[in-house]
Amino acid sequence: MSTPCCGGIGETLVFTCAGAAYSGQLANRAGVDLTKGGQAGLFCIAALAAELPEKLERTRNAGKRIAIDGCDNHCCRKIMEKAGMPVDIHVVVTDLGIEKQPQELHILVHTKRVVAEVENRLEGSPARPSAGQHKSGK
Ligand code: SF4
Repeated sequence: MSTPCCGGIGETLVFTCAGAAYSGQLANRAGVDLTKGGQAGLFCIAALAAELPEKLERTRNAGKRIAIDGCDNHCCRKIMEKAGMPVDIHVVVTDLGIEKQPQELHILVHTKRVVAEVENRLEGSPARPSAGQHKSGK
């Protein structure tokens, strides 16, 4: 099982936009649940934007990078690409028919839907061949 911010090379990392809107908060909740479930380790998107060297290095060495965005502004994916870290799996909450709105409506049900989408995409998604890759984060 991956652990946030303390895993090894070749792990599966998940980044979320953690936006203020319901869909952004849902994206982050899905990242937390994926970490709890052992499918991926939640990592700090803000640390990539801040260009923290150790966070960039760990992201560079990831076996797989997942980005979950709350809406079609794709802030998380854009930050990662700007940092030179292309994503392997990109899930957008509003693409799943969940609206971007201020209220918390069905966060548990909707979170399960986002987690299921990531799990579906993880199946059959080969690990990124990276230097020094030793293990999957699963
Ligand atoms: S992707 Fe959408 S919800 Fe997420 S931070 Fe950007 S604008 Fe906010």
